[in-house]
Amino acid sequence: MASIRFFCLEETLNRKPVNFNPKHERVSDYFASHVFNDKAMRAYMTKEAYKSVRSAIDLGTKIDREVADQVAAGMKAWAVSKGATHYTHWFQPLTGGTAEKHDSFFEPTEDGDAIEKFSGGMLVQQEPDASSFPNGGIRNTFEARGYTAWDPTSPAFVIGTTLCIPTIFVAYTGEALDFKTPLLRALQTVDQAATKVAQYFDKNVKKVNATLGWEQEYFLVDSALYNSRPDLALAGRSLLGHGPAKGQQLDDHYFGSIPERVIQCMQEIEFEALRLGIPIKTRHNEVAPSQYEFAPIFEEANVAVDHNSLFMDIMEKVARRHNFRVLLHEKPFAGINGSGKHNNWSLATDTGVNLLQPGKTPKSNMQFLTFFINTIKAVHDHADLLRASIASAGNDHRLGANEAPPAIISVFIGEQLSAVLDELERLESGKLSPQAKTDLKLNVVGKIPEILLDNTDRNRTSPFAFTGNKFEFRAVGSQANCAQPMTVLNTIMSAQLTEFKSEVDALIEKGMKKDDAIFNILKEYIKASKKIRFEGDGYGDEWVKEAEKRGLSNVRDTPRALDFFVTDKAMKLFIDNGVLNKVEIEARHEILLEEYQKRIQIESRILGDIAGNHVIPTAIRYQSTLIENVQRLKDVFDEKSFNQMAKEQLDMISQISKHISVIIADKEAMIEARKKANALADTRDMAIAYCDTVRPYMDSIRYHADKLELMIDDELWPLAKYREMLFTR
Ligand code: ADP
Ligand code: MG
Repeated sequence: MASIRFFCLEETLNRKPVNFNPKHERVSDYFASHVFNDKAMRAYMTKEAYKSVRSAIDLGTKIDREVADQVAAGMKAWAVSKGATHYTHWFQPLTGGTAEKHDSFFEPTEDGDAIEKFSGGMLVQQEPDASSFPNGGIRNTFEARGYTAWDPTSPAFVIGTTLCIPTIFVAYTGEALDFKTPLLRALQTVDQAATKVAQYFDKNVKKVNATLGWEQEYFLVDSALYNSRPDLALAGRSLLGHGPAKGQQLDDHYFGSIPERVIQCMQEIEFEALRLGIPIKTRHNEVAPSQYEFAPIFEEANVAVDHNSLFMDIMEKVARRHNFRVLLHEKPFAGINGSGKHNNWSLATDTGVNLLQPGKTPKSNMQFLTFFINTIKAVHDHADLLRASIASAGNDHRLGANEAPPAIISVFIGEQLSAVLDELERLESGKLSPQAKTDLKLNVVGKIPEILLDNTDRNRTSPFAFTGNKFEFRAVGSQANCAQPMTVLNTIMSAQLTEFKSEVDALIEKGMKKDDAIFNILKEYIKASKKIRFEGDGYGDEWVKEAEKRGLSNVRDTPRALDFFVTDKAMKLFIDNGVLNKVEIEARHEILLEEYQKRIQIESRILGDIAGNHVIPTAIRYQSTLIENVQRLKDVFDEKSFNQMAKEQLDMISQISKHISVIIADKEAMIEARKKANALADTRDMAIAYCDTVRPYMDSIRYHADKLELMIDDELWPLAKYREMLFTR
């Protein structure tokens, strides 16, 4: 009998919910209690230090060293009051995870005593030994130094006994080695560009923040079953396993009642998150069995990105306390819905206006239309770059797999807004006549608020959809760091708004009225960006054909999608907007290709191991039982009866042999393909070789292994089955 699998199943079946009893009843009692936020800063810092940090957050001013000492002293006193003994610079290297190295506050004194010390210097900058983070060739080994620098716009927090200080991570020569640095630069450039455009409508606007609300999908699997599967444990997804008879076809999981063990786990995750100021608001079952979602209230994008990284970390830690493992992979189970992370995005002014919120007056609607149409134009002009921003080995399994948007970027805006844009497009060019102005009022800017109220035709199949007062970028993968798509989206928006401003100003200079100029340019943008708009079913084959006719890209795999990062157009965009320089772009491209190649390599090795050491021995064992049975039948019966009775067994014996021999042959060929790929000198060539020549063997091995799973005695099968992982909790 397959002892590990059954032992794990028994463990799982005997589980009781791990009760979570928070000491508090109301969220307001503990929300952000472990965050060095405005309230804590006021309480623990000198007036001067507080003012200086506030101005760094609001206006991006620098904090001088002396004040930094005061800030550090306040931060330390606060952290110690929360039980902190250590501090760390917390950053997001290009591994996709978060990094931390804890140092104690403790410092010995000359007289043999000890004090708790934390200076401004320790707060502002550190030099972690960072030689083993991905760097894409930026740091050669003798210049392996990198440094982390405090980001005052994202508040410090205490986890356990450690004060965590959000930081950027850069090479000693200044190039970004993390996700946060380019994000901050993108947010700065979009702020500048959007503020200038917003000032057409309101002179009081001084700052525009990008906002982000992420929706995190994930699976929970019992930890015993998880540990029985080397593929889940090492690759985060199952590399083989036959689909269960019952999957999601009855649609009985979505928004269903949440199992007790799961709800206890969710509550503890929420508690930890809320204490850290992550405003988690929503939790529910997702479409697939054992799939769930969390969503917070949206926040300023940089803070929201940090919060998502932190949240993924919390989920993993807390789930273990409930004997679960969180699967953040985009496709943990073939044939079952994958997981995404919708990025809800908008722009908000410091005067409290959501620039993608239709207003009550024609003027505010003109502002809405301006930002709305510029977003569509930005996505139209840089769709390929958006595609690249969400490319990963995991997301390749999800995009276009009939439950997620395809790899084709398009924008959905709904029937009514489409009609508004059509009206606008019909406007005459040049100076608007009184008649045109009346039409505009009646049919365009006057109509928006009422139509949006009943704008319920949300299209779930679009990768980039307008949902009433924000755009929702749905193609982002569940384990991705949101920083990358957010960096690209805000950069293209910045470039677009800058272009818009200069075109409108040019018309104004020629003597056109401001409103007329704005409408003239918007009208041109509507025309120019038409092909990116798609209102139909994004999951259908029809769209693939239609998109091709329109000249939209449909790049299905990561290594080729990443090419869009290094086109001349992308280089110019990143460089002109001060988001990434040439060295940084090339390094990032290299790192992402390398990550892709390594992930496929790891998966391929794991599958080779499971096929060779688990599947084939089991198949042989079962085949031997069949052979034994046949031999005995032969002993007992005459030839005619035997031939009749042993027919099926004999057939199974030969089928098993066939599957075994294909698996062995594919496994050998896969190893050869890896060797060949590994010999390639160029990273891109290697990634493409893994994609085109290694991956297909994995599909074939899986196909035959899954067939064997169906044939072989359940008692012998060593790996937890899909139905067990998905339905036992
Ligand atoms: P769903 O897409 O599942 O219907 P909701 O419409 O409730 O979900 O919103 C999803 C997310 O969008 C939430 O995280 C919410 O905070 C976020 N959101 C709402 N308004 C904005 C905005 N102006 N900017 C960014 N995110 C927003
Ligand atoms: Mg959504």
